[in-house]
Amino acid sequence: ENAKLADIGVTGLAVMGSNLARNFASKGFVTAVHNRTSAKTRALIEQHGGDGEFIASETTADFVASLAVPRKIIIMVKAGAPTDAVIDELSALLEPGDILVDGGNSQFLDTRRREETAREKGIHFVGSGISGGEEGALLGPSIMPGGSAQAYESLGPILEKISAHVDGVPCCTHVGTDGAGHFVKMIHNGIEYADMQLIAEAYQLLRTAAGLTPVEIADVFAEWNTGELESFLVEITAQVLRQVDAETGSPLVDVILDAAGQKGTGTWTVQTALNLGVPVSGIAEAVFARGLSSAAHQRAGAQKIGLPGPSSPWVVEDKDAFIEQVRLALYASKLVAYAQGFDVIAAGAKEYGWDIDNGAMARIWRGGCIIRAVFLNRITEAFDEDASLLSLLFAPYFTEVMTRAQDAWRAVVAGSALSGIATPGFSSSLAYYDGLRAERLPASVIQGQRDFFGAHTYKRVDKEGTFHTLWSGDK
Ligand code: NAP
Repeated sequence: ENAKLADIGVTGLAVMGSNLARNFASKGFVTAVHNRTSAKTRALIEQHGGDGEFIASETTADFVASLAVPRKIIIMVKAGAPTDAVIDELSALLEPGDILVDGGNSQFLDTRRREETAREKGIHFVGSGISGGEEGALLGPSIMPGGSAQAYESLGPILEKISAHVDGVPCCTHVGTDGAGHFVKMIHNGIEYADMQLIAEAYQLLRTAAGLTPVEIADVFAEWNTGELESFLVEITAQVLRQVDAETGSPLVDVILDAAGQKGTGTWTVQTALNLGVPVSGIAEAVFARGLSSAAHQRAGAQKIGLPGPSSPWVVEDKDAFIEQVRLALYASKLVAYAQGFDVIAAGAKEYGWDIDNGAMARIWRGGCIIRAVFLNRITEAFDEDASLLSLLFAPYFTEVMTRAQDAWRAVVAGSALSGIATPGFSSSLAYYDGLRAERLPASVIQGQRDFFGAHTYKRVDKEGTFHTLWSGDK
């Protein structure tokens, strides 16, 4: 009866859950821990039990009983059916007012469903995106919690305390109700796919067209990392390119099989964007590029047949000027990917009734997560200045970047096309940009075609109404 009760509980003590639990304990929270297989719980206490106050339980009932009311429990188990199983088990033991957090990578529609079910029982269900991998979980992740504002009142301060901090500001804020947190985490991952693809394309151009070695390219990225492109991904890419394979002595990047894996969140982003009718070409091309890289048989077939490419390679004369062109093309393409990502957030917020502060999203991505980057400050400023920005690209700061970058961007995309270097991220982003700024699009031709073959009708630029033409070919 007199036993101390825990401030927060974590169930699921694989790498993410155990690191998160250690993070809570290190910040002074009494932390209840539980795992289906109790050997993991015991291992955590044996190795780190001295780093803070833990209450370990072997059964779910003991775990729930070890928590102060209203209970706050974070579930860190495999996404999908295991998460449902754990929610069901816990829900049966919880009381109205308790807060159940899913910190896994759940699909936001699952989170909406689970929140609704929990709400009927009076339980606050909070789907929370947690980014930053295992190191983030231990030292301070970027946290994107959804759920009710009421749940955030008591849960928020705890999460904010263990999150990453940038300039003293926590990388955690209430994103919006029900599935909003997992939705924004999904978009974060989609942007991450695009960012990685664009950096890879920059590498490819510097390697193939400028003939730089991996170490020379590492130096270029390290230099870029001191300027407006400063970011975790640019920084680690430099380190990846510097790595030498111990076995062969070759650059490790030349030994790693060029087939990119994925766990599906990029695909979710694109599927969601398609459902919402929002173009996310930058993210989609990044997902497709991973798919193409992994199409081993087709790629081998193309090698066998020798699908023809252009006759002459790209011979870059002024390497320094070229490096700067690639840097600008990377920055501009990256902005398009972010602009598209925020467009999906806006469309999702409208569809699902979330009040999402875009500027705050950029703010909580500044630390702890994979896409952390200095330029996120500029995104926050842009949305703080004008919360209803129609596109991130319309913010004066970013319009200036496009003005400054576009000649280089065009030269890089044109050169890639002429010399047969695939740059799907750079080129599709440029195509999006030119489509966005075009006064007239050839969609009028498509409307004509649709009306011709299917009497789908069209609108006119000069008067109201819906029109159908009796086309001369119409029978
Ligand atoms: P994981 O490999 O995804 O899951 C392992 C954990 O799930 C173990 O604790 C396991 O318990 C438990 N589990 C599996 N099925 C269960 C069931 N039916 N009932 C109860 N428990 C079950 O672990 P993780 O890599 O630490 O990730 C946890 C969550 O965080 C996932 O949703 C993941 O997508 C998300 N996430 C991961 C990262 C990352 O970098 N790894 C980053 C962000 C988010 P047993 O020990 O008993 O098997």
